[in-house]
Order: sequence, then C-alpha cells, then structure tokens
Amino acid sequence: MYPFSFTKVSDTQGALDAGRRGGRYIAGGTTLVDLMRETVERPDTLVDISALPLREVTATERGGLRIGALVPMAEAAAHSKVRTLYPVISEALELSASPQLRNMATIGGNIMQRTRCTYFRDVSADCNKREPGSGCAAREGFNRTHAILGTSESCVATHPSDVAVAFAALEASVHLLGPDGGRTVAFADFLLRPGSTPNNEQALRRGELITAVEIPALPRPLRSGYLKVRDRQSYEFALTSAAVALHIRGGVIREAKVAAGGVGTVPWKLPAVERALIGERPSKGLWVEAAEHAADGARPLRHNRFKAELLKRTVERQLRTVGGTK
Ligand code: SF4
Repeated sequence: MYPFSFTKVSDTQGALDAGRRGGRYIAGGTTLVDLMRETVERPDTLVDISALPLREVTATERGGLRIGALVPMAEAAAHSKVRTLYPVISEALELSASPQLRNMATIGGNIMQRTRCTYFRDVSADCNKREPGSGCAAREGFNRTHAILGTSESCVATHPSDVAVAFAALEASVHLLGPDGGRTVAFADFLLRPGSTPNNEQALRRGELITAVEIPALPRPLRSGYLKVRDRQSYEFALTSAAVALHIRGGVIREAKVAAGGVGTVPWKLPAVERALIGERPSKGLWVEAAEHAADGARPLRHNRFKAELLKRTVERQLRTVGGTK
C-alpha cells in the first residue's frame, strides 16, 4: 500500500464537496481496495459515502422501481418488489460473486466495477485502460475470456457485472448528483465502449455521485430471468450470459427485452433479437431463429471464437426458459 487520506462523510453535500476536490468515492470497497493493494489504482483521497441515505428500494410514480445506489447487492436481490417485478435482477445479483461480497458490495459500486482482464490487474503488463498509450497485452496474449462485441484496437476487456446486463436489458436509467445538480442518464449511455480511450469507462462528470438506478415500468404480465454460463458454478465471471424479459399477451410476444453479458466491452443489448421476437408466437423454432442474431457483429479473438456460438445457445436457452415453450 501507499499513503492516501480517508474521509467519511455523513451527508450528500459533504460528499459532493469532497468529490469536487478530487476525492474518490468508496462504499463497499470490494473492488477498489483490491485494486489499491495491487497498485492498479492509486487515489490520493478516499471519500467513504457508506453513511449517505441512498439505501432504499422504492416504487416510482410511473410504476417502475428505484434502487438506491448504496443498497447492498444481497438486499436488492432479496427485496420483495425486485423479486416480484423483475426476477431477472434478483437472479443476476444472486449469480454474482460470493455471499460475503454480495453483503458488502452496493448496486452503485457494482455497475462501477472495473474489468477482470488479468493484464489490467498486472502492473507489469501493457494496458491502455490502466496506463493510456501503453498498448494492450490481451490482444496478442491469452484472450479466452475477453470481449467479442464492442471492442476496439485499444481494448478488448469485458464489463464484468451481471446485474448491469439486466439493467441494460430493461433499459434502466442512472440518477446522478453532481456539484451542478442532478441529472439522469440512460443506462445504455452510462457505460462507455473503449474506443481509443478505454480508461474512460463511465459518463460521469467530476465529483458526480450515483444516487440510484431506476427501472422503468413495463407492461404486465412480464416474465423475466437471467442465465449465466461460466467455467464453474460459483464465484466466477460469465463466459456468456443472457437477461431476458418478455411480455406475452393473447399468445403473442408484445415486448421483448434482451441483453448479453460476458461478451461485450459493455453489457450488450440485443435489438436484432428483440425485433425478431416482437409480434411472433412463442415456439421452439422462434427462439432458435431469434437467437441466431445474438452474435451479430461479433469480432472474436484468437482464443475466444467459441463465444459467438455459446452466446447464441445461451440466448436461445434463456428465451426458451422465460418464454415457456419447450
Ligand atoms: Fe488493458 Fe483492455 Fe487490453 Fe485488458 S483488454 S490489457 S484492460 S487495454
């Protein structure tokens, strides 16, 4: 470790003041402390925001749900409204990390977590995300777990969050509060693709704080669920995953929300799959046909060619599970 200062704030204004001065927010600390130990991250000042009143799950006037940024993952997963209205969120959370981490880590921290690319965490390796302009060791290195969608010459790392995939599928939005006031950003615009600046990962302005993630109201009945495919059944990141929500009325799919994880540099929304589903009647053939679009635009690397086919099968299986036709 190296020297840094630590401040605990008890109100939002105190947090924003410290954030404006360049302080780095910390809550559960389950990612940031590891990265500091490994000297991947070296913030001068940590601002502990865990006492801020951002720990509620509430129904919105518009019929959606607002999950406070400091709600622990385990609490969000178990919340009756989340479980009832959006099981895809509960399932994504429960398939993440370990029980201990889910008790500590927060919803805001989860979507802010940084990639698990091993080269990013190895300070002796070239990594444009950690050290802009140094290169990307993963491109020619071992890239079995890396992204096949949304990549750039500069970076091919996946976004590791599971619940972010559910948020992307459901077209959530992120509420932010900064020195200049509050604003709301569509989830699809919050996490940034790497382009030529993979070190810029979120659409956050200096000192801005995530206050909540809002899930919009969706037509009912809504069936939803999350499937995660990984090398082992616990405490592992996704090779591929699929978040699916379907509104089926009168035997016809009226709404379809689908996104994939483990394959994109950001949680990957699948609009071509959604389009193939809407207006159709559920059938085994439809799931296969729609899932064929899941890997559209994929650019596999040397060691992860299997991901394109695995992604299609993951999406097809989860459409079948949620849609109910065997
Ligand atoms: Fe760094 Fe991204 Fe390359 Fe990994 S894939 S080494 S995070 S630049």
